[in-house]
Amino acid sequence: MAHFARARVDLGALSGNARLLKERAGGTPLMGVVKADGYGHGMVQAAHAMLAGGATWLGTAHIGEGLELRRAGISAPVLSWIIPPGEPVGEGIAAGLDLGVSDMAVLETVVSEARRLDRTARVQLKADTGLNRGGVSPGDWERVVAAAARAETDGLIKVSGVWSHFACADEPGHPSIAAQLDAFHEALATADKAGLEPEVRHISNSAALLTLPEARFDLVRAGIAGYGLCPIPDLDVPGLRPAMTLESRVALTKRVPAGSGVSYGHRYVTDRETSLALVPLGYADGVPRAATNRGPVLLGDRARTIAGTVCMDQFVVDVGDDDVSAGEYAVLFGDPSRQPGAPTAQDWATVLDTIPYEIVTRVGVRVPREYT
Ligand code: PLP
Repeated sequence: MAHFARARVDLGALSGNARLLKERAGGTPLMGVVKADGYGHGMVQAAHAMLAGGATWLGTAHIGEGLELRRAGISAPVLSWIIPPGEPVGEGIAAGLDLGVSDMAVLETVVSEARRLDRTARVQLKADTGLNRGGVSPGDWERVVAAAARAETDGLIKVSGVWSHFACADEPGHPSIAAQLDAFHEALATADKAGLEPEVRHISNSAALLTLPEARFDLVRAGIAGYGLCPIPDLDVPGLRPAMTLESRVALTKRVPAGSGVSYGHRYVTDRETSLALVPLGYADGVPRAATNRGPVLLGDRARTIAGTVCMDQFVVDVGDDDVSAGEYAVLFGDPSRQPGAPTAQDWATVLDTIPYEIVTRVGVRVPREYT
């Protein structure tokens, strides 16, 4: 069915990126991070594609996301790591998810649910090595590790992993990187002393995978790079292919005289008689209102800029005297190596002073994903 817009997702690019990243990591096992609906690409589809490309683990923020992967028939190991009170921990254990444990309270919940279900829960202890976000604080690490070791002896849990997360891996050379690596080695030594034998130790995200061979350990976790976008804007990663192309059909065109104010607030005023093209995508679809007069668009084979205010469902492009017709696709971002002139999600991120993660994850639910 024809639709006013679509996010085309190239599954081959996702598989190819996974393959390339695993190679870049020297063959280290790869976790495809598919939280947030696969960074907007579709979680289950992205998971299948990354597994096909050689990923052997999947990562989600929430247990509910992990359960959705299981319901889709995916049996690969899955780590889910944000577990606030009230999460379906028992279901996660029953589904064989690895549960990220960031404090004593979560460990206690997991242990009591494992006892209730008479199951051994798979637990990955997360050390806070300096991000100061999730993870067990250094002062609590020994106590949590000891409690986990006791629960393991009791057969209630298996500590399948010990892991952490970098704060500044996207800024190579940042002093916190070496400090976090040292802290991670210390955390591992403590776990070792307590008799834990985790199957996987891991700390690297995409940026670390691409720049820090010494941080590979037993597993690397790739999110953004798996989707073909680089976490370090000026780092060239040959062969990485952006998987998503966001495009929308021009709804109508109109001729207006010089001096016409365009869209809400008349923040764009035509400087000559010109043609305007209406593109039916707006901030409800993930085109930030901050892209007013700034967002890049490929239309009629030319790179252009959004004219005037981005509305909830639409924006306008000034196409001058070019021959642009209703029904033509305007490309907001994609893969310029396949579609010359297409802006990238990074171009949007640069214009909006954000990161490409935010651009792709925000593509709204009204935009159907089409898989090729
Ligand atoms: N690991 C954790 C704990 C994360 O929260 C994320 C994403 O934010 C990732 C890995 C993947 O990061 P990236 O997309 O930078 O590869």
